Amino acid sequence: MNLSYILNELGENREDYFNAVAPPIIQTSNFAFKKVDDLRKAFEDEASAYLYRRGNNPTLKILSQKLAALDGAEDGLVFNSGAGAIYAAVVANVKSGDHIISVDKPYSWAQKLFNEILPRFNVTTTYVDGREIENFKNAIQPNTTVIYLETPNSWSFYLQDLREVAKLAKEKNILTICDNSYCSPLYQRPVEYGIDLVLQSATKYISGHSDVVAGVLCGTAKMMNKIFNAEYMNIGIGTTPFNAWLLIRGLRTIKIRLEKISETTPKIVNYLKLHEKVESVIFPFDKDFPQSKLAKEQMQGACGLFSFIIRAEKVDEIENFCQGLKHILMAVSWGGHESLIIPGCASISSNEFSPANMAHRTMRMYVGLEEAEYLIEDLERGFKTME
Ligand SMILES: *Cc1c(COP(=O)(O)O)cnc(C)c1O
Repeated sequence: MNLSYILNELGENREDYFNAVAPPIIQTSNFAFKKVDDLRKAFEDEASAYLYRRGNNPTLKILSQKLAALDGAEDGLVFNSGAGAIYAAVVANVKSGDHIISVDKPYSWAQKLFNEILPRFNVTTTYVDGREIENFKNAIQPNTTVIYLETPNSWSFYLQDLREVAKLAKEKNILTICDNSYCSPLYQRPVEYGIDLVLQSATKYISGHSDVVAGVLCGTAKMMNKIFNAEYMNIGIGTTPFNAWLLIRGLRTIKIRLEKISETTPKIVNYLKLHEKVESVIFPFDKDFPQSKLAKEQMQGACGLFSFIIRAEKVDEIENFCQGLKHILMAVSWGGHESLIIPGCASISSNEFSPANMAHRTMRMYVGLEEAEYLIEDLERGFKTME
């Protein structure tokens, strides 16, 4: 489907709402019926009806149609967080006694689900280095029902070969789930490689303005229907009409935002690579990235998230660097208009800092919509304040 059509028209029946160009926020908890039979039908198949806000809502429907089309999937559901989408996707597809294979260090709340919640229900997880297909093969057990992927990983930037993993999983009748937050469907479409369920944090590039927390899950109509009628309705994790409206608004500009970010990021990466205070830069589209060939084959773009390893002997130097920045904000999340940084040393107490440990000197940076020169000048300011 044509991208311009998806972003500007798909799902928008303007004659239903006074030919308004922008869709309405249908802020209602319930919907009224004229005929008992229509109400009966809605009870029988809530997924196809407008009955109650915990289920469907017309503003959400416009959004979910667009998001499913972007992923090249049959259907999609929008959650009130990316973590909610992860939870529903996984929990809907395991039962007591099952085994999951996950890539190493997926998103932190996926780890929490695998390490703390699912073991209480007798579901176990094996983590593998997803860079080698052999590691998935070797981890498969007779009770493996789910393979969980995140490519590129939003911290290590390690990739998995989606086509290879999907092929292996299909042979073994294992369901595949991929966290596609890093690329967004504009730059990677896991469904086209044979992945069953694709999710992303809509908080990141779909919103793009750092004002919404939401998640998307797309797959077959049958799978989405199953999840709608169980986890989605039971936990009540659908997004609100207002947030759906903001996400539709975000989608209008996603293409140009990503183009701008894709233009700025290599400039920042190249500046950092040449800086004496920088040991290395980890960015999937950099020519020195070990999996850059796979990245170029599998992804259409690489966006604005990367890491660099700063040269520092003392934790104070890194703290001074971060606190010396004037424009680049120190904050979690990413995908918005504003550039961000998180130092790895914020995850340890300062007396644990060891310069020999690369993770302590890792800086995760996100490039937003500012001009490259503006950001480089700010990074220069940070480096100058290190000593
Ligand atoms: C942010 C993020 C999530 C979680 O999304 P929320 O909207 O914050 O719940 C999941 N995966 C990745 C890779 C993320 O960056």
